Amino acid sequence: MNSVIRIALQKSGRLSEDSYQLFKECGIRFDYGTGKLKSVSSNFPAEFLFLRDDDIPGYVEDGVADLGIVGENVAVETARNVRTIHKMGFSKCRLSIAIPRGETWSGIQQLQHKNIATSYPRLLGNYLAGEGVQANIHEISGSVEIAPSIGLAEAVCDIVSSGSTLLSNGLKEVEVIFRSEAILVGAQTISDEKQALIDKLLFRIKAVQAAKNNKYIVLNAPNDSLDKITSLLPGMKSPTVTPLATEGWSSVHSVLNENDFWENIEAIRAAGAQGILVIPIEKMIY
Ligand code: ATP
Ligand code: MG
Repeated sequence: MNSVIRIALQKSGRLSEDSYQLFKECGIRFDYGTGKLKSVSSNFPAEFLFLRDDDIPGYVEDGVADLGIVGENVAVETARNVRTIHKMGFSKCRLSIAIPRGETWSGIQQLQHKNIATSYPRLLGNYLAGEGVQANIHEISGSVEIAPSIGLAEAVCDIVSSGSTLLSNGLKEVEVIFRSEAILVGAQTISDEKQALIDKLLFRIKAVQAAKNNKYIVLNAPNDSLDKITSLLPGMKSPTVTPLATEGWSSVHSVLNENDFWENIEAIRAAGAQGILVIPIEKMIY
């Protein structure tokens, strides 16, 4: 039987662009953004469904979709029986409690018996229960930040990334209750054939993610400092060292995590390296 995996993605919103881009970088082609709700890949046995993000965990639980990309916040809030397969590393945000800017914050106990507006009653409820705070949770589906100014609630609990929305509504963030990023979720049970396709997809996703975090480094080094420089550039196995046309100099090629590169750059330069190039990597397979 020729299996096809069905993948549910957010139709349009904060998860969409990065999700589409990731599949593109994995070499999986499909049409999106044409208003269609379904698209079949032309070069991978996959079919894509474009949905509201809130509906994705339910579709995956019911087996209508085999995989979905959704915020961890939504996956937990909807409490559907799905499996987290992989963290995607994008759409990072936090769920926080915020209060009017002019008020002082003495801790979560301050919300005892107060009203809190949120679109995340389950996440908030669990957090408050853990802190031993009893509050009235008002579930509203959007524009949560307006609640304090219209007298609906003393505090809100909402998604924050930069905090600018809170600020423009006269609120300040006082407590982070959950940190989220996009995750790949899958059904609890899956056929062996579909699992093989998921493994193939995951292999590609990991190669793309590894490449994003690493850089290809090329530099020139005097031969007497090669030991020092190569020790700062461990590479995937070990660096490549080839002689330059100029006597006494070598070219060193290596792969380095971008953070390690910035950590080590001063030491690399101090050891005499010159002409340092940092080149993006498209795919990386260990
Ligand atoms: P839909 O119409 O599909 O229901 P939505 O309005 O519920 O969309 P979005 O605002 O597009 O959802 O956010 C989708 C997910 O992206 C959120 O559940 C959260 O995980 C993440 N997210 C939300 N806000 C931000 C942000 N400012 N920065 C980064 N990620 C965010
Ligand atoms: Mg939504």
